[in-house]
Amino acid sequence: MTEKLAIIGAGPAGLTSAIYAARAFLEPLVFVGPAVGGQIATTTEVENFPGFPNGLTGPELSDAMRQQAERFGSRMIDDTIERVDLSRRPFVLTASEGTYEVQSLIIATGASPRKLGVPGEDQFVGRGVSYCATCDGFFFRDKEIMVVGGGDSAFQEGLFLTKFGSRVRIVHRRDEFRADAVLQNRAQANPKIEFVTSSVIDRIEGNGKVNDVLLRNVKTGEVRTTAVDGVFIFIGNAPNTELFQGQLEMDHEGYLKVDSRLHTSVPGVFAAGEAHDNWFKQAITSAGFGCMAAMEAEKFLAQNDA
Ligand SMILES: Cc1cc2nc3c(=O)[nH]c(=O)nc-3n(C[C@H](O)[C@H](O)[C@H](O)COP(=O)(O)OP(=O)(O)OC[C@H]3O[C@@H](n4cnc5c(N)ncnc54)[C@H](O)[C@@H]3O)c2cc1C
Repeated sequence: MTEKLAIIGAGPAGLTSAIYAARAFLEPLVFVGPAVGGQIATTTEVENFPGFPNGLTGPELSDAMRQQAERFGSRMIDDTIERVDLSRRPFVLTASEGTYEVQSLIIATGASPRKLGVPGEDQFVGRGVSYCATCDGFFFRDKEIMVVGGGDSAFQEGLFLTKFGSRVRIVHRRDEFRADAVLQNRAQANPKIEFVTSSVIDRIEGNGKVNDVLLRNVKTGEVRTTAVDGVFIFIGNAPNTELFQGQLEMDHEGYLKVDSRLHTSVPGVFAAGEAHDNWFKQAITSAGFGCMAAMEAEKFLAQNDA
């Protein structure tokens, strides 16, 4: 059976696409993939999503979006797409537990955290190295925590981690931070937070779990060993688009190329959210792109005899 529309991804972009597509009676299949709820489900406080004057948690926001999508007939599939064939319609999607034929496709696979790429990082993931404060903060009660990064995520998650750690040191390779002013003021006022600027981690060391890091001052070259229990890394993202290599046009960083109405280089395939957006990277903008992609998919299907 050929489905009208599949959506790969269930973050803000995919779930918003699903709400709009389901309300247009396209009965979308939504592949949830490895990150249920998307990146927003990994954060505690979301204070900038309109409609929630007192804020809400990331999981609350993604759960609400999912319920809304299901209410209108979206079909959630807890599986990951492993291969696609976009060479002709219907497109063929291969998941770990099945193969699907679809007339149109919205790619909302988002992005994954970028790695530091230093020795010890991979070895200690889950044993002191983390990319998710909400998931792992609890394990660092009264422990020494280091947060790497200088943007909103580093500050937001660093503030959250002060609930657990005895001290939270924010390490940034530059002198100045990119995080927004409100977050910077909050962090500066928090007695548990310290800042280590112009510094990078050269190596993460431990014995079964993280014990220390080698910190290098990029101005003086001085390297010192600093004892730490947890290293939380928030240095940006890379798009989850390897699946489409050779089939869709993308830029040198792997972001999908789209036109102003989110059409990719293959007619009938649309992209929404951080799979193509390397600039705004917010839940609300991703949701907005999701809405646009679903409206375009509906038009495409109406014009191309779904
Ligand atoms: C720690 C943190 C805090 C944040 N805080 C805020 C905030 O306060 N406010 C804000 O607006 N934004 C915040 N953001 C940014 C926001 O989370 C992202 O902009 C948004 O989640 C991007 O949405 P997306 O749907 O494009 O992709 P994602 O959220 O990355 O979702 C991608 C989805 O695709 C799925 N997927 C990937 N590959 C496959 C595959 N092969 N098959 C099937 N499914 C697949 C994943 O499982 C996931 O469900 C934060 C991000 C982080 C990391």
